[in-house]
Amino acid sequence: MNIAGNLARILQQLPPTTTLVAVTKNRALSEIEQLYQSGYKQFGENRVQDLVAKYNHLPKDIQWHLIGHLQTNKVKYITPFIHLIHSVDSLKLLQTIDKEAQKNQRVIACLLQFHVAKEETKFGLDWEEAIQLLRSSEYAGLTHVRLVGIMGMASNTDNQSQIAKEFQTLHRYFSDLKKEYFLHDAGFKEISMGMSSDYLLAVENGSTLVRVGSALFA
Ligand SMILES: *Cc1c(COP(=O)(O)O)cnc(C)c1O
Repeated sequence: MNIAGNLARILQQLPPTTTLVAVTKNRALSEIEQLYQSGYKQFGENRVQDLVAKYNHLPKDIQWHLIGHLQTNKVKYITPFIHLIHSVDSLKLLQTIDKEAQKNQRVIACLLQFHVAKEETKFGLDWEEAIQLLRSSEYAGLTHVRLVGIMGMASNTDNQSQIAKEFQTLHRYFSDLKKEYFLHDAGFKEISMGMSSDYLLAVENGSTLVRVGSALFA
């Protein structure tokens, strides 16, 4: 395993407008420390319990991303320190994040997660649900969350054109939301899509945040 070499190669493939989220899930602290010592500080975890444990053990200048499903009863464990929550898939969750952020005197950046994959099991909103959320009076009243973009996962398939189609759908969702709801909000600019197997395809389709794990630790 050559973590520093993998990191350098992946960073070199990304345009300046795309940020790498180094996915550290299922990785030992010693491996993550190697990554940190290579100078990288944007890490992602998909489970709250693991995220909190790693936060506690590692240097505090790491920016932590939550990339997996978030249950409302676990929000409070990450609100003191989380950098970006990629996986907002309901108004109720966003309201809970807002409430907990307020207690911590923070404004927490979030992405709306969309479901574009074929698998039934993947979390996320569809277009109608997202519009309903954004038009609600409850959303309008939130003061301690800031939507900065969208996130999605492509189908788990080898079919590149299927994956590209799903990334294009995400890109269109982003552009349409930007036009309708965030035109004068320069902060709404992120499209989180692409993993180890498809991040280059995601970049071609406008990804600004790629979430890469296994390719980094290979
Ligand atoms: C695990 C995970 C990734 C990274 O997957 P790799 O294939 O290891 O790069 C990206 N996004 C989410 C939501 C994940 O759970």
